[in-house]
Amino acid sequence: MKKSIDKKREKEKQVVTLMIRLYCKKQHGTKTGLCPECMALAEYACECSDRCPFMENKTFCSNCRVHCYKPEMRNRIRQVMRFSGPRMLFHHPFMAIRHLIITKREAGRLARETDRE
Ligand SMILES: [Zn+2]
Repeated sequence: MKKSIDKKREKEKQVVTLMIRLYCKKQHGTKTGLCPECMALAEYACECSDRCPFMENKTFCSNCRVHCYKPEMRNRIRQVMRFSGPRMLFHHPFMAIRHLIITKREAGRLARETDRE
């Protein structure tokens, strides 16, 4: 059980890093790797995944009902998602579609949970 959570965590970090890399390449013109600003964002995002106590029940930090991101970082990660989200479909179609399906399912579940409260 613990193992599958770790796997999920790793997967989330992988997707976030990919999205940030794509954003950085296109928006900041970074040829390889990440610029210092995006590097900090990627590290921050991975740290959030590491610390997230809801990993078992949620699918993605940007989707999480408990927003552990600092407002500034949250804004930045949202920009990255908005930019890279649709483009992921082109660069990493399988991963993007899978993420889209999970995100949709999760959003529906969260909405239902909120209704009950
Ligand atoms: Zn950058």
